[in-house]
Amino acid sequence: MDNRPIFDKVEISNQLSTLSLPEQLKRKKVCRFPNSSEAQVARHYTKLSTLNFGVDSGMYPLGSCTMKYNYKILERLASLPQFMQLHPFQDDQECQGILEILYKMERNLSELFGYSKFSLQPVAGAHGEHTGLLIIREYLKANNDDRDLVLIPDSAHGTNPASAVMAGFRVKKVPSDKWGNVDIDKLKEMLSKEKVAAFMLTNPSTLGLFENNILLIANMIHENGGLLYYDGANANALMGKIRPGDMGFDVCHLNLHKTFGTPHGGGGPGAGPVGVAEKLVPYLPGPIVVKEKDKYGWSSYSETQIGRMHGFYGNVIVVIKAYIYFLLHGGSGLKEASEKAVENANYLMNKINEIIKVPFERVCMHEFVISAEKLKKDTGVSALDIAKALIDKGYHPPTIYFPLIVPECLMIEPTETEDKESMDAFVSAIKSIVDDANSSPEKVKAAPVTRIVGRLDEVKAVKEPNLTFYS
Ligand SMILES: *Cc1c(COP(=O)(O)O)cnc(C)c1O
Repeated sequence: MDNRPIFDKVEISNQLSTLSLPEQLKRKKVCRFPNSSEAQVARHYTKLSTLNFGVDSGMYPLGSCTMKYNYKILERLASLPQFMQLHPFQDDQECQGILEILYKMERNLSELFGYSKFSLQPVAGAHGEHTGLLIIREYLKANNDDRDLVLIPDSAHGTNPASAVMAGFRVKKVPSDKWGNVDIDKLKEMLSKEKVAAFMLTNPSTLGLFENNILLIANMIHENGGLLYYDGANANALMGKIRPGDMGFDVCHLNLHKTFGTPHGGGGPGAGPVGVAEKLVPYLPGPIVVKEKDKYGWSSYSETQIGRMHGFYGNVIVVIKAYIYFLLHGGSGLKEASEKAVENANYLMNKINEIIKVPFERVCMHEFVISAEKLKKDTGVSALDIAKALIDKGYHPPTIYFPLIVPECLMIEPTETEDKESMDAFVSAIKSIVDDANSSPEKVKAAPVTRIVGRLDEVKAVKEPNLTFYS
């Protein structure tokens, strides 16, 4: 067996001493390289890769964060040297191709979602929210309006209130009614007392439900003089069916990394473009690609825009992947993807409803929530225990305990890329966990038992992550 070390300490230290680096920059000691054979290293990393779970390993039904399967061709094409070797300081004349893609993507998004213009600069959903709220703040300032209250429904994604506060607004919660919609009477009451800067909403809501009163809500907010903000992080129920711009939303962000098939997680990389209605276009962060005659170039700086939200032009590679996704599907294909996302979620919801109750018995959109409240009362097995037991069955757990308004909540999104067989297998896994909960709850409470770690101290794991230890 070849047991040669891959790094030779002596050789490296010799090389270091011959470099003509200034003395103070040179290492005083040889750094500690692992003294392992190539075989050991290959096995170590191959083993590590099998400990991870991703959309390529199996179904990843994470509600509110669309984890669909991503076509490999998107990665292949986005990694072409023609894209990878571009430099942001390159002359516009030399990169008309990429400028054309960014221009067309901006136009595609505006048309698909019903806006005048999009800025492709923000690099995450939360970053897009923050950008959208800064635009609203700037618009109000330009109109000498000092309102500073942002309303957010109690089912909203946690980034919404955080973005609003970071943009200098106060935040108040609007309760949901028993159907999971915005409580219109409560909203009316709040609007009668205070002027609101904006209402941040997502439709379908984070419960996976379509807000039937959206046109009424849009009217109420606009009559009060405020703006309507659309959290479009998960737009895969919408494409080609309905446009947030038409529902009355003045500002919208999208998550290209959720809706348009880009792998994400662990913080990036993403793209959170922000689209606005005509009256807000002057405030969009630039530069934005413009087309004059047959040439593409960048818009010039304007006094009114909120300034840059990111260096250079945002995460261009993510935009390229979304653009290829557009081209692969075409208009009718995007609509079909949305229909399939909704069909899959309803199929799965109805199957699971026979095992664990769905709190809102309505047609859902691309995702739905279930409540393990009764199971917990009967057996002691909680939403967390179900999530952990699903790991042993080969699934990434769904989102749990969110939205906060549903007790023992599990939030499930199959996405359009799952087929009937994989969804049926998931239902069987849930069924077998519930059977176990009834016959031997301690077994479920011990899960996961197939991974290298069992139950973590959840708080400690977040606050003091130990990511290097491996034995
Ligand atoms: C994921 C998500 C966000 C935040 O997006 P990031 O890219 O993670 O910052 C915002 N709102 C909703 C509804 C989401 O699902």
